[in-house]
Amino acid sequence: MNKKTEQDIMEKLVSLCKQRGFIFPSSEIYGGLQGFWDFGPLGVELKNNIKKSWWKRFVQMRSDVVGLDSTIITNPTVWEKSGHIGGFSDKLVECKKCHHRFKADDFTSNAKCPDCKGEFTGERNFNTMFKTFVGPVENSSTTAYLRPETAQNIFVNFDTVRAAMRTKIPFGIAQIGKSFRNEITPGNFIFRSREFEQMELEYFVNPKEDKKWFEEWVNQSMQWFIDLGIDKNNLRKYEQKGKELAHYAKETIDIEYNFPFSSHGACPPVLWHGRRGSASGGDKGFAELMGISNRTDHDLKAHGFTYKDEVTKEEFIPYVIEPSVGVERAALAFLLDAYTEIEGGRTTTTDSNKEKEVVLKLHKDLAPYKVAILPLSKKENLTELALEIYDSLKSKHMVMYDQVASIGRRYRRQDEIGTPYCVTVDFDSLEDKAVTVRDRDTMEQERISIAELAKYINKKLES
Ligand code: ATP
Repeated sequence: MNKKTEQDIMEKLVSLCKQRGFIFPSSEIYGGLQGFWDFGPLGVELKNNIKKSWWKRFVQMRSDVVGLDSTIITNPTVWEKSGHIGGFSDKLVECKKCHHRFKADDFTSNAKCPDCKGEFTGERNFNTMFKTFVGPVENSSTTAYLRPETAQNIFVNFDTVRAAMRTKIPFGIAQIGKSFRNEITPGNFIFRSREFEQMELEYFVNPKEDKKWFEEWVNQSMQWFIDLGIDKNNLRKYEQKGKELAHYAKETIDIEYNFPFSSHGACPPVLWHGRRGSASGGDKGFAELMGISNRTDHDLKAHGFTYKDEVTKEEFIPYVIEPSVGVERAALAFLLDAYTEIEGGRTTTTDSNKEKEVVLKLHKDLAPYKVAILPLSKKENLTELALEIYDSLKSKHMVMYDQVASIGRRYRRQDEIGTPYCVTVDFDSLEDKAVTVRDRDTMEQERISIAELAKYINKKLES
């Protein structure tokens, strides 16, 4: 893909996401706020589906993992002990003339301000945690932080969860929830935002078995993306080395996705994680989608926990293997991978069908709507039957009802938002009590009896 095409794809995707109700800039009528995004009617479905799939795979299907939903604001001691108050920072430089601030890592030492060509100050640390105050008094004793990761609340609940669930090592605690980072340079659409959701799992192991479990979680994580339809060729593992590793990590592997942009200019904290820029030095496109870290006993030790094996009587501080992924960053990878343009259209029967068509080939589990019910005409007897069919499917699936515009235009609208199946109700349906089901990817059409439709759709969506 050349640079222009790559840029094009991002622009097209951003525009599709806005027009079709996936993602909008937050508070846009007031000019928006950089690094904040709202998820529209389709976006919220996509995000929920991503979260549901992750939870099912890594909590519901596993007897060794339990869930948690903890608060965003905690006692600030959590962040003191974890090292975030001292260390969760980026290096920034400020222009002496216009006072605009930039992430130091994006510039060489002799660079000038891109806004006014003024000189930069020296680098200084900038803590990227958002601050707030708890209660009516605003002073240092009431200062609290919005969590920059969901992990710490899992660690501080280590004993309470263990006692309640009688879990024994190895076991994991999973959490999905909002995290906040005052990123100096948010950007690349939803790749790097200031408010986002994370899906994190802290898997507690005997330190002697850390290697085995680390490999296991890298493989499991990779497989989840592949099973949800991401092209293997757009994924790769990148092992962090030397200074790239966070101070707490013994080993970290990033699962990278081949994004259509360089990650330069959209970088993560420098002091906290040493490595920046495009993932492996100049290989534009591949950038971190998720990280799997061996956090050792750093966190449990910091919060003062130990563990005693009831059988062997061995006492130790468990090591933690952490697979961590952002919901929005995953959504961006799924959307980019699914976005397909078909030059000249997929059918050639009429001129209008020869236009370029867009098909969002999302995995069925991720598609915001699973089925669209399309009556061929707005005549009352047809809409009545179509609405009956809609009602018969909606308790199990997200179903869209659309009777506006030509059937060709309606098919294309559904293709663009990734709906796997369109059900057309035509005048024959009144006689033969059957409908036509069209498959988004193959465009094959099958005549199915209305009595069998729910079973047919359920089977298709489960396969
Ligand atoms: P990056 O290197 O891209 O900044 P990180 O190494 O700081 O990420 P972690 O702290 O390991 O990220 O967080 C785990 C995951 O959370 C990342 O792999 C990514 O999917 C997601 N994530 C982190 N920061 C952001 C952000 N600002 N916006 C969206 N998602 C994010």
